[in-house]
Amino acid sequence: MAVARKKKEIISNDSLAFLTSYINNASPVGFESSGQKLWLNYIKPFVDTTFTDPYGTAVGVINPKASFKVVIEAHADEISWFVNYITNDGLLYLKRNGGVDHQVAPAQRVFIHGKKGPVPAVFGWPAIHTRMANTDSKEQQPKVDNLFLDTGARNKKELEALGVHIGAVVTYQDGFAELANGYYAGRAFDNRIGGFMIAETARLLKQNKKQLPFALYVVNAVQEEVGLRGAEMIARRIKPDVAIITDVTHDTTTPMINKIIEGEVACGKGPSLAYGPAVHNKLLNLVQDVAAKSKIPVQLRAVSRSTGTDTDSFAYANDGCPSVLISIPLRYMHTTVEMLHRSDIESTISLMYDTLLTLTPKTNLSYL
Ligand SMILES: [Zn+2]
Repeated sequence: MAVARKKKEIISNDSLAFLTSYINNASPVGFESSGQKLWLNYIKPFVDTTFTDPYGTAVGVINPKASFKVVIEAHADEISWFVNYITNDGLLYLKRNGGVDHQVAPAQRVFIHGKKGPVPAVFGWPAIHTRMANTDSKEQQPKVDNLFLDTGARNKKELEALGVHIGAVVTYQDGFAELANGYYAGRAFDNRIGGFMIAETARLLKQNKKQLPFALYVVNAVQEEVGLRGAEMIARRIKPDVAIITDVTHDTTTPMINKIIEGEVACGKGPSLAYGPAVHNKLLNLVQDVAAKSKIPVQLRAVSRSTGTDTDSFAYANDGCPSVLISIPLRYMHTTVEMLHRSDIESTISLMYDTLLTLTPKTNLSYL
């Protein structure tokens, strides 16, 4: 009987500590800078140089002098809320900042990021007793116009003293947690797990002393959740020759999801590769060959007009940039308890890493 070889651990204790602090930090759309600072600090030892753009997209570069440019990319922003209206008795009504889910908001704890630092608050919600007593027909559902925050302050003056203002952003307090069987839970793994995975790819390249025949741009883009805006800006600036994008995709095997519509993808079965017009077929073939050769499990899915990820921004930037999307399966997206599996994190990092070691400026990506 063969002796089972212990599978090489890709995620070290140091990287897990970084992931925990990165997830526990708030990085709301348009206000990502504190997360970007954490990320830049982490990747600095693994890259030759770093830079940022006017809206805060952060980039680490390996081999900055090479003319052929390859991007690995994720987005740094997390969905959140904006304070929109303050009542005379100090309650706060909100506006979405990205596709934050109103159905999971009631009774959650949040931080309001005001002028004097984070202010704790809760999403108030009427008690079951008063709800039932007052309803003649059906129960109220949470909606943007009936969801409100309570900080404990009872008028605008008290809120002002706390540094809370119209336009302050609001994030949930929930943080990183380890569950059974290699599962992690947390808010906004979408897509800070991507920022983690591209950083780890850079770390492995450095640690294993790999020389790349191109410049590698490790890009953590802002403002994906409001229309792929950060990627749009940075793609124009870098003008890459190839882009490998990573984001999350739905695990569709949990209850109440229609597989006929959403396809079948499950946590623990490896990254999902998307087919779609924005995804470059030859680059996708190369990634699939790499996965087969390296025995990395992958799942397939089809997207239509757009991938809904930064892949679109890179693919259609400049004169067109061959782009591919490597997604990690995620349960309960845009809730406070997003879940993913450690083995998928490791497989996605391995797939990006092995793809980078296969790709060269001479790789033929011509369609015709
Ligand atoms: Zn998202």
